Amino acid sequence: FARKQEELGVALNEVQKKAVLQTEGALLLLASPGSGKTTTIIMRIGYLIEAKGVHPSRIKAVTFSRASAQDMKDRYNRFFPGNPDGGVQFSTIHSFAFEVMREHLRRSRISFQIIEGEVEQPEEDELPLHKKLILRDLYRKVRGENLTEDQMEELTTYISYVKNKLIPERAWPEAKCDVPEAALVAKEYEAFKRSFPGKVLVDYDDMLVIANEALEKSGELLWKYQNRFDYVLTDESQDTSLVQHAIIEKLARRHGCLCVVADDDQSIYTWRAAEPQYLLDFRSVFPEAVVLKMEQNYRSSRNIVDIANKFIKRNENRYDKNMFTRNPGSRPIYLKQLEDYKGQAKYVAAAAEKEESLSETAVLYRNNASSIMLMNEFDRRGIPFYMKDGDNRFFSHWVLEDVLGFMRMAYTDKRPDLLEKIHTKMSGYISKVQMAALGAIDNGESVFDNLIAHVPLQDYQPKQLAECKELFQSMRAMEPRAAIRLIRFKLGYERAIERMCERLGFRKEYLIGILNTLEDIADGLETLEDFANRLKYLEAAMKASKKNKNADAVTFSTLHSAKGLEFERVFMIDLIDGIIPSNEDMKKVDGGVSPLMEEAVRLFYVGMTRAKRELTLLSYNRRDGEEAKESQFMEAVRQLQSPPKAQAQAPAPTSAPARRPEAAWNAGTDGRRLPARKPTAPNAKRNTRGPASSGVTVTEGRPGEQPSERSPSALKSFEGLKPG
Ligand code: ATP
Ligand code: MG
Repeated sequence: FARKQEELGVALNEVQKKAVLQTEGALLLLASPGSGKTTTIIMRIGYLIEAKGVHPSRIKAVTFSRASAQDMKDRYNRFFPGNPDGGVQFSTIHSFAFEVMREHLRRSRISFQIIEGEVEQPEEDELPLHKKLILRDLYRKVRGENLTEDQMEELTTYISYVKNKLIPERAWPEAKCDVPEAALVAKEYEAFKRSFPGKVLVDYDDMLVIANEALEKSGELLWKYQNRFDYVLTDESQDTSLVQHAIIEKLARRHGCLCVVADDDQSIYTWRAAEPQYLLDFRSVFPEAVVLKMEQNYRSSRNIVDIANKFIKRNENRYDKNMFTRNPGSRPIYLKQLEDYKGQAKYVAAAAEKEESLSETAVLYRNNASSIMLMNEFDRRGIPFYMKDGDNRFFSHWVLEDVLGFMRMAYTDKRPDLLEKIHTKMSGYISKVQMAALGAIDNGESVFDNLIAHVPLQDYQPKQLAECKELFQSMRAMEPRAAIRLIRFKLGYERAIERMCERLGFRKEYLIGILNTLEDIADGLETLEDFANRLKYLEAAMKASKKNKNADAVTFSTLHSAKGLEFERVFMIDLIDGIIPSNEDMKKVDGGVSPLMEEAVRLFYVGMTRAKRELTLLSYNRRDGEEAKESQFMEAVRQLQSPPKAQAQAPAPTSAPARRPEAAWNAGTDGRRLPARKPTAPNAKRNTRGPASSGVTVTEGRPGEQPSERSPSALKSFEGLKPG
């Protein structure tokens, strides 16, 4: 196996070696970013197969997200190409749970149907087999009112949360949620899913819960899965929830050969009930477990490692590690302030264009909404990109449909069916009754003339409708950008959106953001038709770019999906207060640091530690016409990097700690628990929808959850771990 290491050009360090060779029994590897956690897992799998003769199909590697499952698989294939048939099973915990659940329900002769979490545009008469539609109806039944979009997010997060935390139904009311009667609605939701004869509806959380229960109740099922694998490994375990841990624990119980790899500083899914604390209690489940710690970063240049290491120490609620590296320094972290979002997109594109290897460049953002402008700019310059995460809702969003609807009316104002689509969203607001009356007139004249001449109107309407007629006519010859501004500000669409936001709880910033993005896309185009074609083209380009994964293309990704990956060059964009940290993250909570703020710090840290040699942080002065403030995280990096006057001095010495860095750390044998991590707020949600989606509610720890009694400083040590 030593030869194998040589061949791969990776000389494992002492701890890594230990983790690879110690194949039997439970092992927990808690380590810094870039310290070789994933590398170690892959080498361990290779070692099991090549040195110990384990059949690949006897090894199960589980991760939390599809992205990291894929990352592991890719790396494994790179290291050990052409492995024999019946390869190692890399999967997400959900796909494993799905398999168990399916088997269990088949045995019980119950059929099932999966309910999707997302739904694009709920229509009144759509069959409610989407999670959100079901919840919308149930909420209306319980409360006699509609859920706002924010409440819907809150409610779905709450439901995921109680299930992933394995909170029994009777205790649901104690879990905090700002949606009135959330627990009751959640119970109704459970009942609804079971109200079909011979069939259950299951959502993604149910898969986990059902699988876990099935493994608990059916010895036979448990036996079957336990006997299928001899080795279980999990990467990125800091993102694993309680129910997920429970499943993995059961799976590995027979042989106890479980290797768990994690970094609590990269825990970015506590909003979805990830339970990093479990790892620190690992030895209460597997008392013989060996715990190892790694702090040497092999990925990034010295400046990046030093600054990131200092940056993460902002957080109080963590287990102190001192990440260091022996890598040389490279250029300092580059901080740049642009004028606006568009300037940022241009800057990134121009910088990326100069690079020879595009696949070693990544652009990372917190919100998917950022991807559209970026791709518009890259496409314009003909720079290939791979969109790992994009705003999938954008091209089918009703705001975009509305804008095109207005534009169609510019071509002809003689078709009531075109007016029908936008009649309540323009000045002169035409009611349903008026629309019906108009529809009955079949004389091929302008809808506006017909309305004015033949349909009973309110006093204010004739004048406004006559104006609309002229505006639509003038729009026809306009450049699309001017047309959009006319739609927004003269035809009354912007006001209509504001009305809808007030009435229906839509997120105004997100909707306005779409309009601004549309204006930017329209910029420089000549006709309305060009604009419609450009949108069609971009939509296709976005889809096509998903195929560019292994091509020479720049990666666009959210910070969340970039976890575990590495690139020579990383641009982190949109670094303004309000996005990262979001407004919710910045809210103060009683008794200290907001868990949301700490999670935002971790998210930023995950972003920084993706870069091998070049890290560029970008911010801007204005967003959507309003003043924007540079992210406080960016300011913190600036301070850390160049404390006043330090700039001209020689580079700082490496921050390698004095103690022997690769020392293995074994947990003490007294079975003492590691210090408790403070509970995290249940409703800390990810923010993927645009700045407006920061509409998250900060909550304190769930009632009944005991806050840690230890002082923050006690949290900072690896108590209970002794050098081995
Ligand atoms: P993350 O926390 O971001 O998931 P990680 O701990 O999983 O990071 P890896 O991705 O496994 O880290 O490794 C980071 C980089 O360091 C990789 O490029 C890997 O090849 C390299 N590396 C890991 N271990 C060694 C080693 N012993 N010698 C040289 N390079 C190494
Ligand atoms: Mg990794």
